[in-house]
Amino acid sequence: MKAEEKKKLKDKIAEEIILVKKSIVSLEQTSKPVAPDDAIGRLTRMEALSSQGINEANLRASRSRLSMLEQALKRVDNDPEFGICVECEEAIPIGRLMLMPESQRCVHCADT
Ligand SMILES: [Zn+2]
Repeated sequence: MKAEEKKKLKDKIAEEIILVKKSIVSLEQTSKPVAPDDAIGRLTRMEALSSQGINEANLRASRSRLSMLEQALKRVDNDPEFGICVECEEAIPIGRLMLMPESQRCVHCADT
């Protein structure tokens, strides 16, 4: 991978990390425990519980993406294998890495 591509990619990953961190903060605020039945109507409570479940799933996904992005950021400089598909050992196109810096497979291998 060229030095300028690495630089672009690192900027992109750093940007993504900031966005994911922001969304984690806002998800944490919306996935607080739901108030008991007598505090709000029963139907509202059902709705609150269901949106809480969605938020928790999003929160888990965001946290795991964050840790993958942080690893990717370290690997750009330190891992000579970064940007190489773990399946077929071909270089992953820079366009794909810019979209999904945490991906370790080329489009072809990710599909199969
Ligand atoms: Zn591949």
